[in-house]
Amino acid sequence: MHLGNFIGGAFVAPQSGNYLDDINPSTEEVIAQIPDSDERDVDAAVRAAAIAFPAWSKTPAAERSKLLLKLADAIEKNFDELAELESRDSGKPLSLARLLDIPRAIANFRFFATAILHDSSDAHIMDATAINYTLRQPLGVVGLISPWNLPLYLLSWKIAPAIASGNTCVAKPSEMTPLTANRLAELSIDAGIPPGVINIVHGYGQKAGRALTTHDDVAAISFTGGTVTGSAVAANAAPRFKKLSLELGGKNPTVVFADADLDQAFKDTLRASFWNQGEICLCGSRLFVEQPIYDTFVEGFVERTKQLRLGEDYGALISAAHLEKVTGYIELAKNEGGTIATGGNRVDRKGYFVEPTVITGLGCDCRVLQEEIFGPVVTITPFTDEAEAIAFANSTRYGLSASVWTRDLSRAHRVAAALDSGTVWINTWLLRDLRVPFGGMKESGVGREGGFESLRFFTEAKNVCVKL
Ligand code: NAD
Repeated sequence: MHLGNFIGGAFVAPQSGNYLDDINPSTEEVIAQIPDSDERDVDAAVRAAAIAFPAWSKTPAAERSKLLLKLADAIEKNFDELAELESRDSGKPLSLARLLDIPRAIANFRFFATAILHDSSDAHIMDATAINYTLRQPLGVVGLISPWNLPLYLLSWKIAPAIASGNTCVAKPSEMTPLTANRLAELSIDAGIPPGVINIVHGYGQKAGRALTTHDDVAAISFTGGTVTGSAVAANAAPRFKKLSLELGGKNPTVVFADADLDQAFKDTLRASFWNQGEICLCGSRLFVEQPIYDTFVEGFVERTKQLRLGEDYGALISAAHLEKVTGYIELAKNEGGTIATGGNRVDRKGYFVEPTVITGLGCDCRVLQEEIFGPVVTITPFTDEAEAIAFANSTRYGLSASVWTRDLSRAHRVAAALDSGTVWINTWLLRDLRVPFGGMKESGVGREGGFESLRFFTEAKNVCVKL
């Protein structure tokens, strides 16, 4: 497979003529060649988007909505193929791509297609003197940069609100998972999205991504990825006064109190630990368990972890480099004095598979509990009371999500309010309502996406004051 950039409604070769290998992490085979784009390709895409902007931004919301719904239908019609591509490209189990990734991509387009029909703006009346009203206008060309862990899920989470609210976009998917973005481009033609409204440029972050964040004609950047990259994106975009949304890394706590419904907690905390082989920004990689049930919990959790099946419950890590990183942290855990309760090894077969790994015996100051590993590796640490649970949970520089398990309603609300976290789940995990604000505190991000927050981000508020 030889991919092109999608610019102005056509697939074009990168101007350098250079291509990168796209590798299937489960087989280590090259499955596609993708453009190694540079600033010339990004510039061509931004120009195509700028040409498309006047007509698209004036297209009535009802018409834009219809086109987005058609795109959602096109994704649904090609469900099997997209799930297959996503699994092959990212290493995730096919069953997970079918359960999570592709349904969510469809939902993203349907959600924002209909959200724009129900949006309204404010009016501020000054007695009999004047009426102020707020116009919310699209920004122009926006840049969208997404990671490899939930490729189409997160790319569509940005493209849908961006174009629904009248912007045109240049999207840069991860160089490691380009396939579903490429298919989405083809489907956008079938759905009748006008040329230039969606442009997709493939390639490295340092080159193509950087060119997007520094382009003078890009009004905003919506970025999802690692915290270190987010800092580089901010450094490049801020001097150019681009609007910026940053959804970054996490080191999320799962707090289990002694009164929790343990059957349910086992099910969901196992999923929170190892779904997508731990490569979800919302995964709960630090488990804190109240002392009286600590031994029972560790025993039950380890037993269940051992039963997880390769290819069904977990897949391959994204790359050889990421495999090195994850196994490096397992070694570090041993050096820091941790005990490997189960797992701890690369699986002896082709592909970048690591056994689901549970580590005990480490305190909150250890690097293994401070740094994002982003793999199937979790720690379990005991705590003695509510205050200690909160202190442990808040002890990192991240603040993306948390999950709390208790049957005590008052405590659930108290702990939720005290956690430094953009999302707190009580007795559940990854239950997502697309209307709610989504984002991170501390070094997990800046700004919120989701529902009307996304539509606000992708529009400029203009006050119009009319004297009576
Ligand atoms: P990454 O930061 O390496 O890359 C993300 C994207 O940014 C890729 O498309 C990459 O090519 C691009 N990029 C890299 N350097 C760039 C630069 N200098 N300028 C512009 N773009 C650049 O992240 P990743 O490894 O693809 O994804 C994993 C990370 O993403 C984890 O830290 C995870 O927690 C985070 N993540 C966060 C969320 C969230 O919603 N907060 C969701 C998913 C993943």
